[in-house]
Formats: sequence, C-alpha cells, structure tokens
Amino acid sequence: MRIGVIGAMLEEIELIKHEMKIEHVEEVGKRNYYTGKLYGRDAVLVFSRYGKVASSSTVTTLIEKFGADVIVFTGVAGAVSRELHIGDIVISDKLIQHDMDITPLSPELGKFYIPLINKDYFEVPESLVKKAETSAMTYVIENMNKEVSNELLKEFKIDMPKIVTGTIASGDQFIADSEKIAELASSIKNLKCVEMEGAAVAQICYEHDVPCVVIRVMSDNADEHADVNFTRFVEKAASFFTRGVIRELIKSL
Ligand code: SAH
Repeated sequence: MRIGVIGAMLEEIELIKHEMKIEHVEEVGKRNYYTGKLYGRDAVLVFSRYGKVASSSTVTTLIEKFGADVIVFTGVAGAVSRELHIGDIVISDKLIQHDMDITPLSPELGKFYIPLINKDYFEVPESLVKKAETSAMTYVIENMNKEVSNELLKEFKIDMPKIVTGTIASGDQFIADSEKIAELASSIKNLKCVEMEGAAVAQICYEHDVPCVVIRVMSDNADEHADVNFTRFVEKAASFFTRGVIRELIKSL
C-alpha cells in the first residue's frame, strides 16, 4: 500500500520531510512530490497549494502518476461549531463543497448538489474515520505537550484540545465573516469547520475509488479576527499538531 500524504501548509511539509527517508523527488506542475519511507511505510508527500483547483490537481497526480491508494489530507481550518476553539481537531466523516450551487437552473436538486456525480457530499469510510480519531487522541494525550511549548499553548488558550468528527465544508474563500458562517451552519448539517481544499480532494478520490480522510486543526473561528489568529497559529504551532496526528495515523494504516 502506498500512502499519499497531502499537507495544506508549507510549514508542515517541511516538518514531515525531516522525518521521511526520501528516495526520490519529482516536480510536476510546480509541486514537489517526495517519495520514500515515512515512519517505515511506503509514502508520497506533497504540498497541495491552496484552494479547490490546486488541491484537485495535486491529488490527481498523486493518484495517477504516483500510485497512492489511500490519501491523508491535513491542514488548518476555521471553526464553525461554537464548541470549537483554536487547537481543536476535526476529523471529516463528510465533505461538502459549500460554493457549489446550481439551484437557479435546477432548484429541485438543492444547494451543494454536484451534477453527474449525483451527490452533495462525500463520505469517509468509517474505519478510516476511527483510525484518524484514535491517532488524534494519541497525539493530544501523549505527544502534544512534548512538542509544543507551554508558553504557546497558554497564548492560544489550549489545554486539552477537543477531537470531534463531522462535516467539513470547502470553498474558494478564506471566510472571516460570522454572518456567512451562521448561514453555512444553518444549511449544512453537523458542520464543524470551513477550509478551502478538502471536499475537492474528496471528489477526486471518490472518482478514482481511493479512500481519503481530511484532518484539520482549528486556526481561527472564521470570524472577524480570523486573519490574525490564523497567521500566528500557523506560524507557531499548527504544523506540530498535524504532523503528530499523521505520524500516529500512518503507523495504524
Ligand atoms: N498562507 C497562505 C494562504 C493560506 S489560504 C498565504 O497567505 O499565502 C488559507 C488556508 O487555511 C487554506 O489551506 C484553508 O484551507 C485554511 N483555512 C484556515 N482558516 C480558514 C477559514 N476561516 N476559511 C477558509 N479557509 C481557512
């Protein structure tokens, strides 16, 4: 089995690269694909770049050219659910493209419906969800405090991060608008967070019959302070969280 690891943060790719025994690097479409052994497993690591178009292209190459047969996608996201704070971790069980809308043409199909595929969300296999939940739990309980300084944890008011499973919504917008978030929360059931890549990656994986899970650490609340929180958290801490979860997950696949 070859595991495709996609990160949506340059910082996390750098961290993970240090733990990888790289055998081969190849540039395709301005992305570097690192092939080798990660925690003893056959893996390919790549930076997705940002947004649905970039990440779709990246994952297609990962599957078609590099033969990945399971995809693990990580990065940060804006929390929607008010129970979530910076540092909490969301595991996707469903992924939806929140900017997909053909209702002016076919109102009966509803918002988010994707023509031809006949779906409005993509599901993650239950066994993969369970493994991701356990991996996140193990990281938070056993390793987070060893890797992220107390000072930083205090700054972001992170004590024991929550790990929740639910719907992740993707669209080509960085959302920093509480009204928009309230609107999305009322139209998407069990919506936990918003980001810009996951559901696009899930669509490509669905079309190629490759299982995939998206794991996101909360960097902001997608509200009017989102830009400030995002920048500081991504610079200082987020990559340690995602690398930690990936490490546990890869060992369990
Ligand atoms: N740092 C880059 C751009 C990052 S785009 C630059 O400045 O050039 C934002 C990234 O964070 C995407 O990967 C997206 O998936 C995620 N993200 C975090 N919070 C988000 C939010 N509130 N809305 C949408 N995407 C968010």
